[in-house]
Formats: sequence, structure tokens, C-alpha cells
Amino acid sequence: MNPSMELRKFGSTERRVPVVGQGTWHLEKSNRAAAVRALRQGLDLGMTHIDTAEMYGTGAAESLVGEAIAGRRDEVFLVSKVLPQHASPTMTIEACEASLRRLNTNRLDCYLLHWRGRHPLEDTFGAFEELQHSGKILSWGVSNFDVDDLEEAAAIATEDRMVCNQVLYHLRERAIEAAVLPWCASRGIAVVAYSPFGQDRFPGPRTAGGRVLEEIAAAHHATPRQVALSFLLHLPGVFVIPKASSAAHVKENAGGGKLHLTGAEISRIEDAFPLSPGPHPLPML
Ligand code: NAP
Repeated sequence: MNPSMELRKFGSTERRVPVVGQGTWHLEKSNRAAAVRALRQGLDLGMTHIDTAEMYGTGAAESLVGEAIAGRRDEVFLVSKVLPQHASPTMTIEACEASLRRLNTNRLDCYLLHWRGRHPLEDTFGAFEELQHSGKILSWGVSNFDVDDLEEAAAIATEDRMVCNQVLYHLRERAIEAAVLPWCASRGIAVVAYSPFGQDRFPGPRTAGGRVLEEIAAAHHATPRQVALSFLLHLPGVFVIPKASSAAHVKENAGGGKLHLTGAEISRIEDAFPLSPGPHPLPML
């Protein structure tokens, strides 16, 4: 393994962001002190991309993140999301300001539309531009956008404004590789892989795919989860945001950002977790 976490340019922003970040969905359900410690341990290990949302615990996850990043705000690439039902021009601004209060900060590094809802994209993107103009957000993007949504968004947003698309991507859900990922890569839009372990359905050692991960992991003195994260990161422009509520899990996940697989290992994993035959509509949780 290499000694330090790989950084990649995050879309059209000037920021270089660690390839492995930290998710926070349901984190507020864990022991609070342990969860805060885990996030801070992640920062120590270079996992400075923290992903949260007003939806998570109805703001409780943002409050927890606010506690974890207190005194360390400048280290963090902080991302939150507006719910689609709040994505009107005025409500987007109110939702962002409420997120900032809970996070105890004056700015987000990136603000996302969590998924598409009834509000026209023009309205939401207009509010994002206003928030960016006032310095409350430094960039903005989308989440759960399939290619048709992305095409529509690109027609509305001026060039380079939409910096990322956060989508479901794990070994057993590789649909984005067919169309969403190439679409984003060709335009320099970052792809942030959520649920990179498939939540609690990570392939176990008794499954055929799990055995492949175990063998590759053993060859690198790594773990199957580190191999899985490294696989998801093998294509350019991709970032992963595993959620972990213990320092031990965080430490293991950080290792995934330092592991580099060979071409032959990538091919073995692709064969073990095949992309289903097309078409590949974007799945979401
Ligand atoms: P995930 O990261 O795939 O999986 C989280 C689960 O994996 C938790 O149960 C966690 O347990 C466990 N885990 C983490 N590291 C582990 C390790 N090293 N060993 C064993 N178990 C480990 O699922 P996710 O939380 O759904 O996705 C990650 C993040 O993506 C979310 O937290 C959220 O920030 C974001 N997300 C975004 C969307 C969207 O619509 N934009 C949707 C879903 C998720 P512990 O908690 O016990 O460590």
C-alpha cells in the first residue's frame, strides 16, 4: 500500500479531495461520542470529504457532523443536500441556511439536490447560484441523476457549474458504469459513489465473489472491503463515501484509498460481480 490517501480534483472545482470520504446516513443512531470520535479519526486519516444531508435523522446527522468538525472546519470538504420537496427558490435557501446552522459553519463546500422532485431544475439551480454568490456554498451538484436528468440539467446550468453527481455504486450494483459514469467523466463531473459496501449486504466469505475479494486482499495484506473500495475507485473521477460508526471501521476504510489493484485483479472482480445485461437505468436507494 502507498503511504497516503490519493486525492483527485473534484469536478470543475479547484479542490483536490480524498478518494475515500465519510458518509453519515444513520450515524446519529450510534453512540454519539463514538460517532464523533470516528469522524474525527477519519479526518486524522485524511478522509476529509464528509457527506451529510438535511434528511439524515431530520438534521441530527448534520448536528453530529458540526460537533465532529468543530475547530477543524478548514480541513473538511463538507457536502450537504437539499430534499426535493424543499427545492423551490426560497425553500432551497432556507434549507441551506438551516443546514449551516446545524453544522455550525458559514459555508458548504458543495450542496446537492438529493434527488429530482416536482420543483423545476431551473428554480433549484437558480437558488444554488444565489447561495454560491453569497458565499454560503462554494459549489453545487446533483444526486441520483440518470443520463436523461443530466442532459436536462446540463442544458440549464451554464458550463462547469454542476460539479458532481452522487449515485449508488457498489460491487453488486455497477449500472452507472454503462452510461452515467462515462457521461460524467467526459464532462469532468465528479462521480461520488454512495453505499459503496451495499450497506449491510457486503459479499461474505462463503460467496463466490466474497472468496475472490478474500484472495485479492490476502495478496495485498489488505481486507475485502479495502479491495472493494479500491475497485470502485479504479476509474477516474470517482470518489467513495462509506459510512462507519467506529474508529476501527474508519481506519479499515481509509486503507482502501491507498490500495492499488492490478489490471488482472480488476478483471477478476469484474467477472465475479458482472454488470447485468442492459439496459441500465440508474438504481437508487
Ligand atoms: P455503506 O457505506 O455502503 O455501508 C454502511 C454500513 O457498512 C454500516 O452498517 C457500517 O457499519 C458498515 N461498515 C462500514 N465500514 C465497515 C468496515 N470497515 N467493516 C465492517 N462494516 C463496515 O452504506 P450507506 O451508509 O448507505 O452509504 C454511505 C453514505 O452515502 C451514506 O452514509 C450517505 O452519506 C450517502 N448516501 C447517499 C444517498 C443519496 O441518495 N445521495 C443514498 C444513500 C447513502 P458501522 O456503522 O457499524 O461502522
